[in-house]
Formats: sequence, C-alpha cells, structure tokens
Amino acid sequence: MAFAITQNCCNDASCLSVCPVNCIHPTPGEPDFGKTDLLYIDPRSCIDCGACADACPVDAITRVSRLTPDQAIYADINADYYADRPVDTAWDAPRFPPASVNEMPSFDVGIVGTGPAACYTAQALLRVPGSRVTFYDRLASPGGLARFGVAPDHIGTRRIGEHFRSIFLHPRVRMELGVDVGSDIAHETVATRHDAVVYAVGADSDRQLDIPGIDLPGSVSARTLVGWYTGHPDVPADAFDLAGVERVTIIGNGNVALDAARILTADPDDLVDTEIAPHALAALRRSAVREVVLAARRGPDVAAFTRSECQALVTRPGVDVVVAGPTAVLASIDSLPLSAPASALRGAEVVDLESTADRRRIVFGFGRAPVRLNGTTAVESVDLADDSGTSTVPTDLVLRAIGYRGTPSPGLPFDTITGTVRNVGGRVVDDDGRVVAGRYVVGWAKRGATGGIGDNKVDAEQTVDALLDDVVSNPPVRPRGRRGRLSSIFG
Ligand SMILES: Cc1cc2nc3c(=O)[nH]c(=O)nc-3n(C[C@H](O)[C@H](O)[C@H](O)COP(=O)(O)OP(=O)(O)OC[C@H]3O[C@@H](n4cnc5c(N)ncnc54)[C@H](O)[C@@H]3O)c2cc1C
Ligand code: SF4
Ligand code: SF4
Repeated sequence: MAFAITQNCCNDASCLSVCPVNCIHPTPGEPDFGKTDLLYIDPRSCIDCGACADACPVDAITRVSRLTPDQAIYADINADYYADRPVDTAWDAPRFPPASVNEMPSFDVGIVGTGPAACYTAQALLRVPGSRVTFYDRLASPGGLARFGVAPDHIGTRRIGEHFRSIFLHPRVRMELGVDVGSDIAHETVATRHDAVVYAVGADSDRQLDIPGIDLPGSVSARTLVGWYTGHPDVPADAFDLAGVERVTIIGNGNVALDAARILTADPDDLVDTEIAPHALAALRRSAVREVVLAARRGPDVAAFTRSECQALVTRPGVDVVVAGPTAVLASIDSLPLSAPASALRGAEVVDLESTADRRRIVFGFGRAPVRLNGTTAVESVDLADDSGTSTVPTDLVLRAIGYRGTPSPGLPFDTITGTVRNVGGRVVDDDGRVVAGRYVVGWAKRGATGGIGDNKVDAEQTVDALLDDVVSNPPVRPRGRRGRLSSIFG
C-alpha cells in the first residue's frame, strides 16, 4: 500500500531527496517539472517508508489507505501519471556549489520582497556560512502572496508560512519591513548597502482586457477580491458589499478564478477557523450570491485551472458545480484523460446559461469570450460570445481574473512585453542585454506570474547558483561590519 500526493502539493520538491527509491516524479531535471499540477508517487516502486510525508511542508502526502473519500481519487491520479511512462529510478546528477561553502568569501545580500521566491533565495544563500541576508518589503507583514494570495481555506498550503517564518528568524537574517524599494529608498542606496541585491518583487498589477464597458463600476480585478479576503493592507475593508449581489461573472478560469468562485460560494461557518479577514467573513454572512459563472474563452481541453483546484470544488458539499451547454461540451469533458484539469468535471450536469437555480451553484462556461460589459451607472450584464452567437448574462459583479503582471520600477530594467525584470538566468541585464553587476531577480518578477509556491524554489536556486558563481569569481572586497540601522526587525 503506497503513499500518494494530494491537492496541497505546491511542487517545492522537498520530498524528492528523502525518497530512498527515487519514486517521486517529475524531478527538477525532468522535462515535465513545473508543468504538472503535482508531483506523483509511483505506487509500484514506493516501499511505504513514509519519509516523504515527514518532509512535506504542507501535509500533501498521505498513505493511500488513509485517504479521505474526497482524496481517494488521488490514488488513481498518482498511478495514472506512470501508466504510460517507464519508471525512471536513476538519480539526477548531484548539484554542487561553485566552491566548497566553507571556502567561500563572506558576502551580504539584500533581498527585495518577502514572498516565496525571496524565502527560497534566502534559504539557498544561508547554506553558505559566511552569508548574511537583509529582507526588504514594502508591507509591514512578510510572506507576499503566501500570506495575501493563497486562499484562507487552503489551510495546508498556508502552512508553508511556518517554514518561511523560520527563515525570517534565522540569526543571519534581518528584516526591513514597511520599506518600498525604488520609492522610500533608492535602488542605488540598497545596492551600496550590500554586495548583491536580489529582486523578488512578484507581479502586483493585472493583465488588461480591452473590451467596451470594462471600466464600469462593478467590474473589479479578482486581485482586489483576493486582497480583500486575505486582509491585504492596500484593500479597504469595505471594498465589497455582497448584500445585493446575486450573480457574479468571473472572466478567466485559472486557479485565482476558482479561488474567488469557491470563497464567494462558501458557507461562512466553514471559514470561521481560517485566516480569512474578519471584514470579509462578515460580508460573506450578508452575501446574496447564488451563482458564480466562470467565463473561459477556450474549451475544456485547455482549461487554465489545475485539476486539484477543480477537484476541491466538485467534492465540496452544498454547492452545485455545473457546466453551461451545449451538451457536446460535456462529451468533450468526459473524453479527457484523468490527468487533464477539466476531467474533474466528468459527469457534471449541463445547464442553460440563462437558467436560474434553487441552490448555490458554480457554472463553468467554456468557449465563451466576454465581448462587452453592459450597464449605465454600473455593470448590469455581460455579453459572452461562443460559436453559435452572443448571449447576454445578467450579472451584478464582474471579476477580471486573467492574470497578474509585473510593474516597472524606475531604475530597474523592465521588459514591457513579458512584464518582468529584464534578466538572463536570474542576472539582471540592461536594455542592451549587458549584465548589471550585483543585481539578480527571482520568482514571478523573473519568469512572469505563473507557477505555484514551490516552483519558485528551483527558480531561486538557479539565481543563487549564478550569484554564487559571481561571488567566487569576483569576491566582495569591501569590509561589511555594519548594515546601518534597521527600521524594523521581525521577531
Ligand atoms: C490569488 C493567488 C492564490 C495563489 N494560491 C496558491 C496556492 O494555493 N498554492 C500555490 O502553490 N501557489 C499559489 N499561488 C502562487 C504563489 O502565490 C506564487 O507562486 C508566489 O507567491 C510568487 O512568489 P514571489 O515571491 O515571486 O512573489 P510575491 O509572493 O508576490 O512576493 C512579492 C513580495 O515583494 C514585495 N514587494 C513588491 N514590490 C516591492 C518593493 N518595491 N519594495 C519592497 N517590497 C516589494 C511584496 O510586498 C511581496 O511581499 C497563488 C497566487 C495568487 C495570485
Ligand atoms: S513512502 Fe518512502 S518510498 Fe514511498 S514515495 Fe515516500 S519516501 Fe518514497
Ligand atoms: S509540496 Fe513539496 S514536499 Fe509536499 S508533495 Fe509536493 S513537492 Fe513533495
């Protein structure tokens, strides 16, 4: 009886190195890594030792015999990954730092940001005994989206915060919180304080959707809703009044869209013991929301959400999860392989988008592109176009969930096409492609707003490898006894 990896997995690969038989894949050296929802355990090779479950920071690994009924599908999902793949038990080539860590010179790094990418960067840097790290964050509370993004009901995933907290408390770490680098303090000033600066500033604006009516009141970024229910200090407590909102249309169908749909249709009593902001819980108690429509431009075969997020929706009691017709949509869902995200919707009821329901429901509208928001003083309906024409869906609130995007900061090279800090393999480069000495980038600011928490670990290790190479080839010469007075220290 093997172990299986379940919904919480954030792909941080911590379980790989403890598995004695290398039966957890894909590994960072394999092409699928970063492209799958989860890592998977091969049930035929697993020897049931339990080491991976102990190593997992978010409790995602469970003995198959102890899976709850809602989790039972993950035994098949893990096994299914290996159905048409030979089991590769060969170990990846070991990674070695550019010099023995004990022989490396001392160095001091400033990390701008305190989200997952920043934390994994510090974790990799602190393996070198002579390293010191100062985190800077514009917010007074560290954690980035692990704190102000991950949904409050994802209790297992939010446990990653405990791991990050242990990094913030490391004796060679200092915290400068409430400091916006580039605004409160110049990039150059930070650079003169440290031998290297790593930007882990994430992606804190939205991709734009240019359709008529998009700026009407009642059309709001899902990022604002996320900030509201997680208690982000930039979002006012009264940003949403759901008392008069019966139908919400969410444009987009990635995991952020599914998070929003799940929270808006949740039973508030189920959120009491979570870290949801109290004002959001109170507003959800007054909420009139009966239906959330997810408008996805493309079909179910290219759904943007992950299977595990969709699985969590369909197994939740009290809310119907249905698919907008025609019935042919369901036929294409039913033919999807188990690994396909939308296969979690197999057997779903097919409904007419114009119909109403007695119970709360979430409607997946595949192949429906929003073309216009209608209303005089606020959004009243949204026009969705599909192969057969355009349907007008009355709606009280539109949430735009089509992706996050980085914002340029004066003095930091920025690629306006990708919305990222301009870089090659984590080294910041200027507009002519020349390396800017001592500046690095990690996480969503480096590769764009894609991937879960754990994806930032491998990404951060790549950047740290580049930084350590540079430290070894060009050791810092300045004495660094002091780092100046710190405005605040996390404790
Ligand atoms: C709504 C939402 C839900 C998610 N849920 C999950 C989930 O359940 N599981 C999962 O695995 N992944 C989830 N993710 C993805 C995950 O959150 C990201 O992969 C991860 O947070 C990216 O890390 P980052 O460090 O690059 O950016 P962030 O986490 O965004 O961190 C950036 C940090 O930089 C700080 N900063 C920005 N600019 C400055 C400045 N100028 N000066 C100082 N500080 C600055 C910010 O305040 C922030 O603390 C979710 C993402 C979103 C948006
Ligand atoms: S239980 Fe042991 S053998 Fe099985 S996947 Fe986990 S670490 Fe590997
Ligand atoms: S979260 Fe990390 S340790 Fe846990 S199962 Fe996923 S990859 Fe393994």
